[in-house]
Amino acid sequence: MADYSDSIEDALAAREAAKLPVPDEVQEAVKTLLRWSGEDPDREGLLDTPKRVARAWKEYCEGYNENPAIHLARTFEEVGGYDELVLLKDIPFHSHCEHHMAPIIGKASIAYMPTDRVVGISKLARVLHGFARRLQVQERLTAEVAQCIWDNLKPHGVAVVVEASHSCMTARGVRTPGVGMTTSRLLGCFLEDARSRKEVMSLMGY
Ligand SMILES: [Zn+2]
Repeated sequence: MADYSDSIEDALAAREAAKLPVPDEVQEAVKTLLRWSGEDPDREGLLDTPKRVARAWKEYCEGYNENPAIHLARTFEEVGGYDELVLLKDIPFHSHCEHHMAPIIGKASIAYMPTDRVVGISKLARVLHGFARRLQVQERLTAEVAQCIWDNLKPHGVAVVVEASHSCMTARGVRTPGVGMTTSRLLGCFLEDARSRKEVMSLMGY
């Protein structure tokens, strides 16, 4: 169920972002931050930085322009009697923490136990990215991805495990490089049935 429309969509979105006009007040805001950090926003190397930063932020936050549930709208009911779990493992993602607007870099494993329908496997990553491309806290990101799959696919169970490192912790504050945070959200059979939970966690590598 490869879906090439996804990568075309991405390329078009990146091209749109590259030519997006940036209002003066937004550029001024970035210049103010540069000055506050001890920089001279008028030096040559920084002249185009306000525009670049502004456009980059539109990309980091492009999840605000979409409802991730749309990726789960097209389902396949012809599953050939398959009723075991579906797992997409170690999906890389980028997000930004809402407390410092600093990068959160990590990977997520997403599993569900289908009832009567499945989605193209890339769509699980789309849902993750739809929620990750916003200002987030890891706990909420994990819960939102799980809930979206739960509400839209109505599966027997959903399991989402997210592992990430937070730049606000690794590059500032307590400065602990290499430290990762793990969060999980289990719903339905993965929450209620110990055997299903054990199976999904071991397939995810936990
Ligand atoms: Zn933070």
